[in-house]
Amino acid sequence: MKVGIIGAGSVGAATAFALVMKGVARKVVLIDANQKKAEAEAADIAHAAPFAYANKIKAGTYDDLKGCEIVIVTAGANQKPGETRIDLLGRNVKIFESIIPQIAKAEPNTTLIITANPADIMTEVAIKLSGFPKERVIGSGTVLDTSRFRTLLGYHLGVSPQSVHANVIGEHGDSEVLVWSAGDAGTVSLDKLAEEVGKPFNAETKAKIDDGVRNAAYKIIDGKGATYFGIAGALTRICAAITNNEYAILTVSSHQEDVEGVKGVCVSLPTVLGKRGVHKVIYPVLNTEEKAALKKSAEAMKEYSDQALAMISAQ
Ligand code: NAD
Repeated sequence: MKVGIIGAGSVGAATAFALVMKGVARKVVLIDANQKKAEAEAADIAHAAPFAYANKIKAGTYDDLKGCEIVIVTAGANQKPGETRIDLLGRNVKIFESIIPQIAKAEPNTTLIITANPADIMTEVAIKLSGFPKERVIGSGTVLDTSRFRTLLGYHLGVSPQSVHANVIGEHGDSEVLVWSAGDAGTVSLDKLAEEVGKPFNAETKAKIDDGVRNAAYKIIDGKGATYFGIAGALTRICAAITNNEYAILTVSSHQEDVEGVKGVCVSLPTVLGKRGVHKVIYPVLNTEEKAALKKSAEAMKEYSDQALAMISAQ
């Protein structure tokens, strides 16, 4: 599979490295406004590739996207300490206006994966700017947040995070919803297993895990300036699901017709992914509190998406 990555910054470079070292992509094209940076990252990763797979990675131009099954868009401003993802909106809409039409022209049959923040809103912006069918414009969404949730649950319960089935849905950001009610490990509910291992969940432990998931990026950015390994893992997983036509269920973001009464908005829900991109969205069974939280999250995304789409048509 050939993958294009727009933006060879922290996220783009880490993702290219992960795709190459896992053998998910056989050809990777890195494009960045800073051509020298794209070339340097491509060369550095190319020197690691022979230790893994016979892959080719190079810096390129939009014309080189021809034949890419997937194009990942990471180009954009990233959060500075103290900034929310929403604070990036205006700057990243402008960047998308310059890059999305060029991708669509170079490879009209590709699937776009949007990861620049605020990712859900930028996915809506990319749908409009590309003119692509909605199922082929996917946000990396809460795939990373779901991994953070499973990791902390696995540590708490003393089982592999891969054996924990629990999801984060809604916005990739402050209003995201941790679905505690439907989680399980080994067919046993999270609450029951926590009791069995002698570490029952109480309000305090749940709040601590919630904070560890919801505020993970803020803490990592405070410590090292950016997050990139986690999202690189998430993007590599999404690419594998698409290229292998897996029908895997991942909490990517895509355009939903109706989320708790909110019409036409991109948020993450459990989604079946394969060659065509989004094959099906599985609407989760939620308790009253989670439903209300999802509605609030979708309302926030709708409000900001409308603002972002208005910025485009204002041009
Ligand atoms: P970065 O600053 O390291 O890299 C961004 C790159 O984009 C730079 O190399 C820059 O030259 C390039 N760029 C800017 N404008 C461009 C244009 N018009 N055309 C081509 N390239 C252009 O930032 P980063 O840490 O890699 O983060 C990138 C984005 O990803 C940010 O918006 C960040 O918030 C987001 N992010 C999302 C997630 C997620 O889970 N969705 C996780 C981490 C970061």
